[in-house]
Amino acid sequence: MTGFNYEKDADGIVTITMDMDGPVNSMSDAFLPLLSETADKLEAEEGLTGVVLTSAKKTFFAGGDLNMLCQVTEDSAEEFFHGVEATKTTMRRIEKLPVPVAAAINGAALGGGLELALACNHRVAWDDKSVQLGFPEVTLGLLPGGGGVVKAIYLMGLMASNEYILEGKRVAPAKAQASGLIDATVASLDELLPAAKAWVKAHKDDEAASTQPWDTKGYKIPGGGVNHPAVAQMLPAAAAMLQQKTRGLLPAPAKILDIAVAALRVDFETAMRIESRGLTYLACTPVAKNMINTFFFQMNQISGGASRPKGVEPQKTRKVGILGAGMMGQGIAYVSAMAGIEVILKDISQEAADKGKAYSEKLLAKRVSKGRMTEEKAQGILALIKPTAANEDLQDCDLIIEAVFENIKLKHKITQELEGYLAEGGVWGSNTSTLPITQLSEASRDASNFIGVHFFSPVDKMPLVEIIMGENTGDVALAKAFDYALQIRKTPIVVNDSLGFFTSRTFGTFIDEGVRLLSEGMHPVKVDNLGKAIGMPVGPLAVYDEVSLELSRKAQETWEEMGIDTSARDGAVARDVVNTMIGEHGRGGRHHGGGFYEYAEDGTKAIWPPLLDIYYKSEVNIPVDDAKDRLLFRQVIEALRCLEEGVLRTVADGNIGSIMGIGAPAWTGGLLQFVNTYGLARFSSRCDELAAVYGERFKAPKIVADKIAAGETFN
Ligand code: NAD
Repeated sequence: MTGFNYEKDADGIVTITMDMDGPVNSMSDAFLPLLSETADKLEAEEGLTGVVLTSAKKTFFAGGDLNMLCQVTEDSAEEFFHGVEATKTTMRRIEKLPVPVAAAINGAALGGGLELALACNHRVAWDDKSVQLGFPEVTLGLLPGGGGVVKAIYLMGLMASNEYILEGKRVAPAKAQASGLIDATVASLDELLPAAKAWVKAHKDDEAASTQPWDTKGYKIPGGGVNHPAVAQMLPAAAAMLQQKTRGLLPAPAKILDIAVAALRVDFETAMRIESRGLTYLACTPVAKNMINTFFFQMNQISGGASRPKGVEPQKTRKVGILGAGMMGQGIAYVSAMAGIEVILKDISQEAADKGKAYSEKLLAKRVSKGRMTEEKAQGILALIKPTAANEDLQDCDLIIEAVFENIKLKHKITQELEGYLAEGGVWGSNTSTLPITQLSEASRDASNFIGVHFFSPVDKMPLVEIIMGENTGDVALAKAFDYALQIRKTPIVVNDSLGFFTSRTFGTFIDEGVRLLSEGMHPVKVDNLGKAIGMPVGPLAVYDEVSLELSRKAQETWEEMGIDTSARDGAVARDVVNTMIGEHGRGGRHHGGGFYEYAEDGTKAIWPPLLDIYYKSEVNIPVDDAKDRLLFRQVIEALRCLEEGVLRTVADGNIGSIMGIGAPAWTGGLLQFVNTYGLARFSSRCDELAAVYGERFKAPKIVADKIAAGETFN
């Protein structure tokens, strides 16, 4: 049998080694026929004493076919449901064999892979870093519909299975064993098959061992059924907490909880059928399509180097110079050293540089105290960072990243002073957040080696790096910045130069629209709540306080000084509000003594009371749906403009950048993907409606009409 190798040994044990066409074993079209033929053969096998299921690939089994899942529509839902049921029935035939069946898990078993392992009576895994187990479906808007939800409940109970089925946690074999998901681990790959076979042999006449818990009479689900006091007490709170966390925007977690509870109430077979229906429902939702598109396909595209210039050799960074040991510089130093890169951390005095290094000391000490790193390893990482005030220490850096004050004269000056220390062919990066890269690069002796490397704060937590191409930036510099971002385990997006690049520019529209709603008279608490209701992590006024009104005032001044035309931004309303807030009331934001909010010593905050006197008009009644769409559509329209103007070079960069950089809601799959499932024509007409009432800024960019005419979507 091609695809599934079938081999019977002298003891009557059949080993099935999955080796499907392509790089991984997966639930492609070929899977069900293969599994079904295998089941036929095993059921007819004379003298069968047991079965071992394993894989010839690096991974055990990769799970569902996401291409196929993306294509499910309401019209094909019925057929899809029957397909899921057929797969389950066939897996059931394997687990109902009268002999013990063991899974020998030699590589990652995620989603469908773990479900296949759960169709075996015993699971033994190689205890190696490459072996991850879990159900990541929820992170793609789906659920494990091959028995995953129901069987997780049967094995671990409602509470303990939460982190797997509701949060999509992936774990190492040891943790999976402690949770009861697998039964045993082995230290080396060589021991795996012998261990699986030994278990089969030892249990060949043991009926209990060849019976699954869910088929065992009198089996009790751990943690108790739905009437157990602890469960009954936890359920209402769990539903409320879930609602609070997802704000009702993500259907998958709610559906999973539903099915988990159903599994406690109804018999196993019925629960399995409810689970299949749940998956069918979710597969049809736009949210699942958005999440699969962006978090799986486009993420793979980006980490696979789609935005990196082809033909430039890998550019490993060996020694990085970081100029400015302030908030950003110290974070960049930490993530670089964590990746094993030698770091020169330079500031204007030794004391300032030492202070920057102390940040890494603090973060590493925390890791050590939590048992996540050895003291020796932490010391090794710290030894990579050299804090200094001496220019000469920068000698031979193959990458220098400048993170000094946001001042073009200063940035020009240090470029001229320090560029000469770069190693031959070295690259100069700027972490500026508001200054155009092309203009910054004018001070450079070689603008082709000058590039924007825009980090987000806090650097150690934020996963994105926005790489900005100046007009003259060359391919090698791009490859260098791109490879460096991957080296420090960040996700890079690549954009062309523009005021605010892609992320700040788009994010600015969210803040701008929030400020407009405030100045039109909406209650500030409502403004921020509606920002959260669309799925943004924080409301626009609260976040404006954090980034600081003062900073945007300064940026505006700098652009004016530099003669940059900002008229396309239509920032008049925001400017007005900032002038009132800072000019008349000294409210520059959280770090300037307060802004829209006032901040108490204990970390709590409340709306600054005079804000209501200045702006709130109780008679103003902007419909909630309009206000929500205004906050979301402004960002989407700006992202579309960035694409139209070529600031965004790919749709994937726009989607991933918006989610990882500015917290665009996960349910949208990114600001551009949102339009695809909303429907381009419908989007365009909603833009017209908003434009008619609230202004021209809501007109859909021409690229939408172009795509409609071409019958295309944003891909
Ligand atoms: P910061 O004020 O915390 O730190 C700047 C550091 O640069 C200070 O320690 C200062 O002593 C040092 N410095 C000044 N002149 C210097 C010189 N000639 N040589 C060496 N060091 C010098 O500022 P920050 O928030 O870390 O911002 C730094 C840069 O990063 C700015 O360009 C900013 O726009 C950008 N940025 C900031 C954020 C953010 O959230 N703060 C996000 C992205 C990008």
